[in-house]
Amino acid sequence: MDAATITSWMREIDAAVRRERDHLVQLDAAIGDGDHGTNMTRGFEAVVQALDGDPGSPPGKLLILAGRTLVSTVGGASGPLWGSALRSGGRVLGEQPTFEGQELVQVLAAALASVKDLGTAAVGDKTMVDALEPAVDALRTRLTAGASIDDALEAAAVAAETGMRATVPMQARKGRASYLGERSVGHQDPGATSTALMIRALQRAVTGST
Ligand code: ADP
Ligand code: MG
Repeated sequence: MDAATITSWMREIDAAVRRERDHLVQLDAAIGDGDHGTNMTRGFEAVVQALDGDPGSPPGKLLILAGRTLVSTVGGASGPLWGSALRSGGRVLGEQPTFEGQELVQVLAAALASVKDLGTAAVGDKTMVDALEPAVDALRTRLTAGASIDDALEAAAVAAETGMRATVPMQARKGRASYLGERSVGHQDPGATSTALMIRALQRAVTGST
């Protein structure tokens, strides 16, 4: 995997959040302020543009640029959270031109740690962590067991989608949805939903490039 993998991951996310924009807006309108679909679409459109303007950078630098772009274009909670996540992930790779599966685990683990650090959410709080943490765990477990990167990423995407659905019966303990208390129960978390789209996008980007 290399810089093209990161560019193609960001393009796949851009396409996915655009396709699902109205759905993400509806989910956020139910338990938040209804801007999650437009936040993510605006953010990743800007990320793709920024990457197009920076050909030749190594994968870590592209992730850092993507994170910086999200912070500066997305006002909602998801901007700083994903922004710092991608920057932390990018720092893991430094200047290296290529990376392997175990390094991808470290990138995503750093991203997760950064989200948890900044947002202080744990699994069960009905946030993006409910999709991201099981995805990182599944990727690590499958690769350690000797699975191919394609199979491990498929497992990660399924784990994120399962985690996303698991947010429905939860009561939100972080973010805007937490203001609703018990009324947040019965709705799927928008951030967990876009996170599942992002992990599925990674699976597509990598499977397409290997
Ligand atoms: P805002 O809530 O500011 O309008 P968005 O609508 O873009 O921002 O994003 C909302 C999503 O952000 C939530 O669905 C949730 O998944 C995630 N989120 C909010 N607060 C936190 C937090 N403290 N930790 C992790 N994720 C969070
Ligand atoms: Mg919102």
